[in-house]
Amino acid sequence: MDKRKTLIFLRNFSLWLSILCLLALLIFFLRFIVTGIDKKEVVKRPVEVYHRVLFISSYDPLYFTYDAQVKGLERSLYPNGIEYDVAYMYSNGRGDTSGDEFFNFMKQRLSKVKKYEAILIGDDLALEFAIKYQEELFPKIPVIFFGINDYELALKASLNPMMSGFYENDYLEETMNLAKALFPDRKTFIGLHDQSVAGKVDISTFWTLRDKYKGYSFVDLDASLLSQSDLVFLLAELPKDSILFYMNCYSDKNQNVYSMLSRTGTVVRSATVPIFRNYVGGEGMGVLGGIHMDVEEQCVKVGEMVKEVLTKGSRPEISLVDYTESRTSFDYSLMKDFKLDFSLLPKDTIFYNKPESFISHYGKIFPPIIMLFITLVVLMFYSKCGKMISMTYIAELKKSQKVLLDSQEQLSYQAEYDEILDVLNRRTITAWLRDTMTEKSVYSIIIIDIDDFKMLNENYGHSLADSILQYVVALLKGMVEEGGWKIARFGGDELLLVIPDEVLTMECQIVRQLFAAIRAPIPLGDETLAITASMGASCSDGITPPEQHVINAETAMYEAKKRGKNGIVIYDDEMKEKALEEIRIKEKLQQAFDNDGFFMLYQPQIDAQTKEVSGYEALVRMKEPGIYPGQFIPVAERSGWIWRIGRITTELVIKQLAAWRDQGKTLHPVSVNFSSNQLNDHGYVDFVEDLLKRYNIPPQFLEIEITEGLFLEKSVLADGFFRRFKDLGIRLLMDDFGTGYSSLGYLTYIPVDVIKLDKSLVDTYLVEGKDSFIRNIIHLMHDLDKNMIIEGVEEEKQYLRLKEFGADTIQGYFFSKPIPANEAIDFNVS
Ligand code: C2E
Ligand code: CA
Ligand code: CA
Repeated sequence: MDKRKTLIFLRNFSLWLSILCLLALLIFFLRFIVTGIDKKEVVKRPVEVYHRVLFISSYDPLYFTYDAQVKGLERSLYPNGIEYDVAYMYSNGRGDTSGDEFFNFMKQRLSKVKKYEAILIGDDLALEFAIKYQEELFPKIPVIFFGINDYELALKASLNPMMSGFYENDYLEETMNLAKALFPDRKTFIGLHDQSVAGKVDISTFWTLRDKYKGYSFVDLDASLLSQSDLVFLLAELPKDSILFYMNCYSDKNQNVYSMLSRTGTVVRSATVPIFRNYVGGEGMGVLGGIHMDVEEQCVKVGEMVKEVLTKGSRPEISLVDYTESRTSFDYSLMKDFKLDFSLLPKDTIFYNKPESFISHYGKIFPPIIMLFITLVVLMFYSKCGKMISMTYIAELKKSQKVLLDSQEQLSYQAEYDEILDVLNRRTITAWLRDTMTEKSVYSIIIIDIDDFKMLNENYGHSLADSILQYVVALLKGMVEEGGWKIARFGGDELLLVIPDEVLTMECQIVRQLFAAIRAPIPLGDETLAITASMGASCSDGITPPEQHVINAETAMYEAKKRGKNGIVIYDDEMKEKALEEIRIKEKLQQAFDNDGFFMLYQPQIDAQTKEVSGYEALVRMKEPGIYPGQFIPVAERSGWIWRIGRITTELVIKQLAAWRDQGKTLHPVSVNFSSNQLNDHGYVDFVEDLLKRYNIPPQFLEIEITEGLFLEKSVLADGFFRRFKDLGIRLLMDDFGTGYSSLGYLTYIPVDVIKLDKSLVDTYLVEGKDSFIRNIIHLMHDLDKNMIIEGVEEEKQYLRLKEFGADTIQGYFFSKPIPANEAIDFNVS
C-alpha cells in the first residue's frame, strides 16, 4: 500500500518535473528567438538630441581603431542625448598632410550645417589641423582630442583654453617587459614603424627604452624607407634570437599606404620571430600579443568629458588626461607553439585563437539538451511508474483475493467453531442436534459448568482462566474421541456434551469418569489447581425433542448449582413437570397472540400527601384464566416472545389513554413495563412514536418501567434505547430498585426520572426500628432530584409512616390492586 503511495507520488512528481523542464525549454527557445540572433550590444541613438558635436577623424572609417573609437563615443554620447557627425581626413600613413584641402572642405561644410557645440578630434593629425585652423573654423567652441601619440602635441593643445583631451599611452615598455620575460634568451629587439606622426613617436619611445635593457641590441626597422618586397625580405631574415615589435607602420617608400590588416598580414607572413604589438589591431592574425591602450575605454571617457563640457559650459578640471587603462591580449595557440609560460601573463589577459572548450562552445545548448534529456528520462520513469503501480494493484488484487479466500475459510471456521477452545460452538451443536437427533434417538446431553469460574477469572485473569478451560477441554476431548461423542462450548464456561446411545444414571461409569477428569489437579507453575463443576444431564425418553433436551440439561445444571455445586443432576419428573407446564404456557401464549388474548389492568399510584391519583402502572393479564404474569412473563422472556407482549401492552395502553381522553377523562401518566429482552426489538421506539402520533397522545402520558439491571448494564444498545425514549419526551422509571445492586452511586448519572422502590425493601425495612433506612432513601432521592414510587404498600401504618417521611407516591394494595381501566380512571381513595 505504502509502496504504491510512493510510486504514485513519484509518478506525479516526475510528471510535474517534465512539465517544468518543457516549460524551461520553451522559455529558453523563446529567449533565443528574441535575443539570440543579434547578440551584439547596440547602443541606441538618442531619441531626443540635446547637443550636436563633430568628430574629426585623422583617418577614415576603415582605419583599424575607428570602430573602437566610435563604439566608445556612442556608449557615453548617446545616453546623454549627444549626436555626432564625422569628418574624415583620410590621412592614413601620410605624415605630411598640409590640411589645406581639408580646411576648404571643412569651411564649406561648417558654413552649411548648423553650428556644432563641440569638436572631437581623433588622433594626432586631426589635432595638428585643429590647432592650426581653430580660429577660422571653430572659434570659442570646445575641442576635445584623443588618441594622441605625440605627447608634446597633446600638451600643447591642452594649454589652449578651448582644448582638452587624452594622450594615447603606447604601452611599449610594458609590452617589452612582457616580451623579455617570455623570451629571456632573445636579446635583439626590432622596432618596426614608419614615418607617420604615431610611427615617429613610436621609434623615439623605442630608443629611449634601450637604456633600460642592458645587454640587448635594439634595431630600427623603418617601413617608410623600404619597398614592400624589401620589408618582406628583411622580416624573413631577422636574427634568430630577435623579437619584433610591430608598432605604427602602414606606408612604404613608394608612398603606398596599407591598411592595418594588409600590413599585419605581410608582417606575420614574413617574420618567423615572435611578433609583439603595443597597439590594438592584428590580434589573432599571427601577432603573438602585447599590451595596448584600451581605445574604446578612452573614447567612453572622451564622451563623458564632452558631456561635462557641454552641460557645465566650462573647461574640464584636467585638460590633459595622460593615462588610459590597458588591455593585454595574446594568441593562445602561438603561446603554445612557442612553448611559453602562461603564468607570466596578467590574469586578465584576453586570448585569441584559443581552442574553445567544449563547454564554452556548446555551453549554451547544454541546458536545453540536459533539460530535454531530463524530460525524456523523467517521462520514461513516469510510464515505468505507471506500470509498476498497476503491477502493485494486480499484486494487491491477488493478495486480497487470497486474503478473501483465507478469511472465507477463517469465517466458516469461526462460524462453526469456538476459536479459543477449538470445539464446536453453540450454534453449530444446536443445528447438529436439530438435524441429526429425533424424539426417538437414544442419547444423553450433559451441560458442564465450571464452579466459580467468575472467581477464577478474577483471580487469575482472563487468559489464564481460558487456559484452565482449555486444559479441561483437552482432558475431555480424549473421552469424546474414544466414545464418539460431541463436545461444544455452550456459553462462557459452559460445555455441552452429546453422548450417543447412552441413557445416563447417577452411578454410571461415564459420570464418574467425567468427574475424575474435571477434578484432576491442573498444573499451574509450581502449584496445582483443583476445580469442580456442576453438571446437568438430560436423557432421551422417546418424546422430548432435542432442543428441549438442551433446555432441560441446562435446567438440571442450575439445579445442581442450587444444590451446592460440584455435582450432577439428571433432569427428572419433577423438572419434567415444570417443563411440561412451560410447554403448556407457551401454547397458551401462542393462542393469546393469535386471538387477542391479553388485556391490561391499571394499578393506581397515589400521591402520598394529597391522596390524589397521580398515575397508573399498566399490568398485563391473559384472558385465559389461571395463568398469571409471574408465570407467563418469564416463559415469554425465555422463549423470545416478550417483545410481542411489549408491543401488545403498549398499544393497549395508548388506545386506552385515547379512549379515556375521548370520554373526557383527566389523563394521568401510565407506565408500561419494558423487559430487558425487549432490547432486541429494535423497532420498538419507532412503534411507540407511531402509536403516540396515531392516537394523538402527548408523550408525557406514557412512561416506561425498566429494571435496575438494565440501567447498570451500560450497553450501547440500552443507552441507545434510553436516549431515544428521552428524545421522544417519554419519562423513564427504574423498576424494582433495591433488589440487585448495592451501590447507589449510579443514581447520579443514569437517565431516569422516577425510582420505584421494590416491595421487598418495604417488607424488610418499613417495620419498627428499621424504617430510618427508608426515610434516608427518600431523602437521598429528593437530594438527587428524583421522584420515588413506593411499591407493595399493604397496610395503613406503612402508608402513614411513609407520608411522615415525605414520600411522593404510593403504589400498593393498601390503596388499590391492579383494576380494569374503567374502574381505574374513576378511582379515588375515599
Ligand atoms: P412489577 O413490575 O414489579 O409489578 C408490580 C407487581 O406487584 C404487580 O404484580 C402488582 O400487582 C404487584 N403489587 C402491587 N402492589 C402490591 C402489593 O401491595 N402487594 C403485593 N403483594 N403485590 C403488589 P403483577 O401484576 O402480578 O406483575 C408481576 C410482574 O410481572 C411485574 O412485576 C412485572 O415484572 C411483570 N409484568 C406484569 N405486567 C407486565 C407487562 O405488561 N409487561 C412486562 N414486561 N412485564 C409485566
Ligand atoms: Ca413494574
Ligand atoms: Ca416492581
